Amino acid sequence: MLPLRSGRQSAALMARARDLFPGGVNSPVRSFSGVGGDPFVVARGAGARIWDADDNEYIDYVLSWGPLVLGHAAPVVLDALREAMARGTSFGIPNGLEVALAELIRERMPHVEMMRFVSSGTEATMSALRLARAATGRDLLLKFDGCYHGHGDSFLVRAGSGVATLGLPNSPGVPDALAALTLTSPFNDIAAVERLFAQHGERIAAIFVEPAVGNAGFIAPDAEFLPALRSIADAHGALLVFDEVMTGFRVAIGGAAAYYGVTPDLTTLGKVIGGGLPVAAYGGRRELMERIAPTGPVYQAGTLSGNPLAMAAGIATLGALTPALHESIAQRTRALIEGLRHIAARHGVPFTADCAGSMFGFFFRAEPVRSFADARTADVELFRRFFHAALERGVYLAPSAFEAGFMSAAHGDAEIAATLERLDAALGHARR
Ligand code: PLP
Repeated sequence: MLPLRSGRQSAALMARARDLFPGGVNSPVRSFSGVGGDPFVVARGAGARIWDADDNEYIDYVLSWGPLVLGHAAPVVLDALREAMARGTSFGIPNGLEVALAELIRERMPHVEMMRFVSSGTEATMSALRLARAATGRDLLLKFDGCYHGHGDSFLVRAGSGVATLGLPNSPGVPDALAALTLTSPFNDIAAVERLFAQHGERIAAIFVEPAVGNAGFIAPDAEFLPALRSIADAHGALLVFDEVMTGFRVAIGGAAAYYGVTPDLTTLGKVIGGGLPVAAYGGRRELMERIAPTGPVYQAGTLSGNPLAMAAGIATLGALTPALHESIAQRTRALIEGLRHIAARHGVPFTADCAGSMFGFFFRAEPVRSFADARTADVELFRRFFHAALERGVYLAPSAFEAGFMSAAHGDAEIAATLERLDAALGHARR
């Protein structure tokens, strides 16, 4: 067992941070409000590991909430950044790196015929929604309970992990008139979607979905769910939008569309395509994307969109992420999940876990989880104790029972073995 960790430097920095930022953080899920206690302050990362301000080491399964598929400070990304940086950090003029990254994305996701780079997943989904509304001439949006699509007003309705962890079903400040345009259905519930379309079909612009949910913990779609969404959207003239900000280049090189064999009209991307820098994108069929300004009338713009440093990090990341590398990360993800199942069984703890590619999740509940309502019945108190026991032993899991976990190319067999040993001890401690 590792010596008890000192948190003195972290505590001092968090005290200053709390005076500067709401809750001391610049994004709510970082605050540990889902697990209790104070977050540590990170100082550096390398490969599968991070170190906090007190020099405690952790094997990291959050990976900046998904982007770092090559691990922290991946040499190939740092080299690309140095090279790009020497030529200037921002121009606001078309640059060759944008073209190179877009071509890499389209090679792997051919249904993204044209795209637009933005700087956050929130921007990508907001812009895709505007486009869907413009293209269909309709106002309503259908989303799923527990799916998070960024903090755009229209999406802050039953929006999953961050808001759920804080117990905020909907956010104040979103006008009722706008929230009324957002319909919600349970995930994996085709009958509920059909009912909503029977009632409002002619007014629904788009179905937005995380094709595999990562923001209510990890929840895989039933085999028939995504094909049903495709045919319901087609039957009613609505667009199907896959929010692949999290699943893109994670569940498969071609994203969830390739993994589950269903092609959306529009796709939103983020996280991995920026390799740890602020990049996101929305894209899809050419005739839809040509409605965006300046070819079309749908306005959307960004001072730092296509930023050369961010593009360079994305190119280095996607360039390195070959099918063979992706498969080896996926294989280690499966090994981790398998190991966790054994540990939970040995400790006699109700447990269900799943993964797709390099994304995974688990719940302290005996039956599989198919919806956010299922997820909410898991033992959150046990998760809190387990999270802290894991942290104490040098494993950093997402600080919420309702978040997916991520694996990177830097997590080798040794890291998986060390993780399982530490989590075994952590569960033994937490279940008491
Ligand atoms: N969509 C999904 C599926 C996400 O997981 C997230 C963020 O976690 C977003 C959109 C929003 O992205 P960002 O935090 O970059 O605004």
